[in-house]
Amino acid sequence: MSKFVLEALPYEKNVLEPYISQRTLEFHYGKHHQTYVDNLNKLIEGTEFEGKSLETIIKTAQGGVFNNAAQVFNHTFYWNCMKANAKGQPEGELLRVIERDFGSFEKFKEDFTAKSVSLFGSGWCWLVKNKEGRLEIVQKTNAGNPLTDGNKPVLVIDVWEHAYYLDKQNARAKYVADFWNIVNWDFVAKQL
Ligand code: MN
Repeated sequence: MSKFVLEALPYEKNVLEPYISQRTLEFHYGKHHQTYVDNLNKLIEGTEFEGKSLETIIKTAQGGVFNNAAQVFNHTFYWNCMKANAKGQPEGELLRVIERDFGSFEKFKEDFTAKSVSLFGSGWCWLVKNKEGRLEIVQKTNAGNPLTDGNKPVLVIDVWEHAYYLDKQNARAKYVADFWNIVNWDFVAKQL
């Protein structure tokens, strides 16, 4: 039976420096993300979820199976949301819908930053496209994923402490502020 594998990072582990260190990616990608993949494979062996897609498992499973499946998806999505030498801001259709739904890019950035910093405990702050086709910022605790609400993931930041503790200790606000320098707006635009 085919198993889930840890997808390759779309870049070398040192290219997000100085915003996210190679050491953070060694642990976050190499240890944490790998562990979610390994746990998921163990948990689904011999169950109804074996052979199902990650998206199907996320939409139908509960408990440990859901948690590990969502964490596999969320981390892959998060790696893709970042790149080296990023442009700093969206353009074209993506910029147009951000301005339509938030007023301005600056206002969107302010709202997304506030929701990322204020999320209590571990979780993910998502930009999603909702069922009405509008962009919305959604806080999700633990392994939370927008697919369970019928929303489409567009952009995400991991705000679990393991995402920033090695580089910034408890300074989540500094991590979120730095994130804007490495957002891969081309990937985000493709999710619309
Ligand atoms: Mn993480």
